[in-house]
Amino acid sequence: VSENPGSGRSRILVFVRLRPLAKKEKEAGSRCCVRILNRRDVYLTEFPHENDYLRLKRLRGRHFTFDASFPDSATQQDVYLTTTAELVEAVLQGRNGSVFCYGATGAGKTYTMLGTVENPGVMVLAIKDLFTKIRQRSSDGNHAVHLSYLEVYNETVRDLLSPGRPLVLREDKQGIVAAGLTQYRAYSTDEVMALLQQGNLNRTTEPTRVNETSSRSHAILQVVVEYRVKDASMNVVNRVGKLSLIDLAGSERALATDQRTLRSLEGANINRSLLALSSCINALVEGKKHIPYRNSKLTQLLKDSLGGACNTVMIANISPSNLSFGETQNTLHWADRAKEI
Ligand code: ADP
Ligand code: MG
Repeated sequence: VSENPGSGRSRILVFVRLRPLAKKEKEAGSRCCVRILNRRDVYLTEFPHENDYLRLKRLRGRHFTFDASFPDSATQQDVYLTTTAELVEAVLQGRNGSVFCYGATGAGKTYTMLGTVENPGVMVLAIKDLFTKIRQRSSDGNHAVHLSYLEVYNETVRDLLSPGRPLVLREDKQGIVAAGLTQYRAYSTDEVMALLQQGNLNRTTEPTRVNETSSRSHAILQVVVEYRVKDASMNVVNRVGKLSLIDLAGSERALATDQRTLRSLEGANINRSLLALSSCINALVEGKKHIPYRNSKLTQLLKDSLGGACNTVMIANISPSNLSFGETQNTLHWADRAKEI
């Protein structure tokens, strides 16, 4: 999780979460092509096509290893504790961090991040844990927790807690901020699930699929903790830690064009923010000095939460169905590259 002193490289922890086979996938006769062993290893099997009667393609497999891999039986609590609990602790020490869910549409990103009322996801569990930890450590109530929830869609930033006109990004002393963004002061966990679910409903939908969140929408929850501490000379100082939890757009379109430059993608139906995030992660992983944050709205917003001394966690979501083999393979390759130092 921590910065690698000397080399200037940051460590990105990479996890994989397999979701259960959906009813629809079962009905379509799909087979399971992913296996997870030892909570780390992912085996991906390619079955020959049904119409591949010449059997030119043999059964092929591939093996990947991550910091941890979650089988379809993993609970939301499992996923939270392994991936994000440490980052919540770090935020309480004034450090920034970010957790991303990456993967194709339908792979389980929103379930992992937001979850349901019965099975709340990482966003809700992180806030719950944060309040528990704050209660344990301070009796004088000197912690303030503010939430903001925003969307990047088509390089437009919107406030999901107070939908309206697009927000403008400005650079000030604190870094890049979305002007006018709602900072919701949270006092307890109880209100948070309803707030986030309502926010999620405010995400952009495609005109053709009115009730479905657009696969090109990124949702970013930022949890800011402010508190006072006494420094070495007993002066009271303010500290701030920020945790960003991001439900990324579906990776299916971006992956197909990974090799091309951003410029040639202008105007194409491609997610600039997702590609820019990939470029930033590549630059961080390669230990480059220049990280191209400026290339998109998403990476500008996350500038102070990616790289440097920040903790970065990636959760790659995958479906077990052989019908999604191509997307799963792409997601695993992307995740595999992200983890390399
Ligand atoms: P995405 O946000 O990546 O497009 P979703 O999170 O909406 O995908 O998941 C697609 C469907 O699969 C949803 O109906 C969701 O409830 C279900 N699902 C995803 N992950 C799990 C899981 N780990 N356990 C049970 N159901 C899941
Ligand atoms: Mg989703």
